[in-house]
Amino acid sequence: MNPDRQSPVWHPFTQHGLGDPIPLIARGEGARLYDADGNHWIDAISSWWVTTHGHAHPRIMAATRDQSEKLDQLIFAGWTHEPAETLAAELVRITPDPLTRVFFSDSGSTSVEVALKMALGYWFNLGEDRSRILVLEHSYHGDTIGAMSVGERGVYNRAWQPLLFDVGTIPFPHEGREQATLDALDAACAQKPAAFIVEPLILGAGGMLVYPAWVLAEMRAICARHDVLFVADEVMTGWGRTGTRFACDAAGVIPDIVCLSKGLTGGAIPLAVTLCIEPIFAAHWSTDRAKTFYHSSSYTANPIACAAANANLAIWRDEPVQARIDTLGEAQAAHLAMLAHDPRVASARSLGTIAAFDIVAPDAGYLSNLAPRLIAFHRDHGVLLRPLGSTVYVMPPYCVTPADLSHIWTMIAASLDAI
Ligand SMILES: *Cc1c(COP(=O)(O)O)cnc(C)c1O
Repeated sequence: MNPDRQSPVWHPFTQHGLGDPIPLIARGEGARLYDADGNHWIDAISSWWVTTHGHAHPRIMAATRDQSEKLDQLIFAGWTHEPAETLAAELVRITPDPLTRVFFSDSGSTSVEVALKMALGYWFNLGEDRSRILVLEHSYHGDTIGAMSVGERGVYNRAWQPLLFDVGTIPFPHEGREQATLDALDAACAQKPAAFIVEPLILGAGGMLVYPAWVLAEMRAICARHDVLFVADEVMTGWGRTGTRFACDAAGVIPDIVCLSKGLTGGAIPLAVTLCIEPIFAAHWSTDRAKTFYHSSSYTANPIACAAANANLAIWRDEPVQARIDTLGEAQAAHLAMLAHDPRVASARSLGTIAAFDIVAPDAGYLSNLAPRLIAFHRDHGVLLRPLGSTVYVMPPYCVTPADLSHIWTMIAASLDAI
């Protein structure tokens, strides 16, 4: 623990005024994090959904070490390097054929900003006046101004509301009300918006809200029918989280634009990509400089980050990653089933490696003190867990041992008694 609050660090999504202890982590290995005194925690949420194969994975660490001795950084406007070329070619190979172009950035939020700029740039360069974005209720796409604009409005972005741009919101497809979602999307698409952005199969930060693959496929078909660009934000769902490499794979959906980040480097180094179909690239391809896609950040396609991503892709090629995901998914579903009939547990749901439920509580909003008490309980019992309001979820790295997974779920059951 680090009780010394002399630290100048201002932590994200952290209310420093509450004085919660902030553990000082020295080392990570597999699904575990260690402090300097040898205390350890099981990382039940993959350090906020990024760590897929485990912390400090030897192959990813070796790749970054190796690359760091060759080329650390390069301007990516007008110059290129081998790790980025290899990565882009491999991403195009493993995604559906229509996705032909890869634009690099450095976080999930920026990959979303790039997707929105690509969509508007496409229509602008075609000379069509289409700029409205459609979104799904309860969505989360990141914390920059543009990404917040296409996400759910609430207490976590109220101060910036005046800066957020207007979007069209489609109701979430709750069980039994899917047709209302599809009808609303169909009607909104008829108004000629630029694009529809959606988290495929599961809305993460919105509360681990799951919806069926057929709804995703229908939403995609509606966009295609109206010539509305379909943007899949796979920042959280990508790299096996939902049971298949990409969530869209399970629905047979081919988006026009895909955002990937988090597990792209196995969760080791920040990197993101926005993939798109050829017509979007073609609309920017010209001898006219005014049609250039004007977007860049300093660390676009950083070579060390690309090397980490190439190592991640090599792990997917050479190792039984899918089998690990299947095994973890079965274990998660079994642990969840044991809790599902507890009267304090509602809406037990799982998808691939993710398992979630809601705690039945009178004051269960995002700001209720349920989540901080759960976080503290688990922190004191060797588990890094971070519920979303009253929604508890487990999303560990794929290498978590059966014993560590059992410990997580045993502590969750104990926490329901304790709080
Ligand atoms: C985490 C997340 C983002 C934002 O990614 P950052 O790397 O945190 O900027 C965007 N979309 C989804 C679906 C996410 O889960």
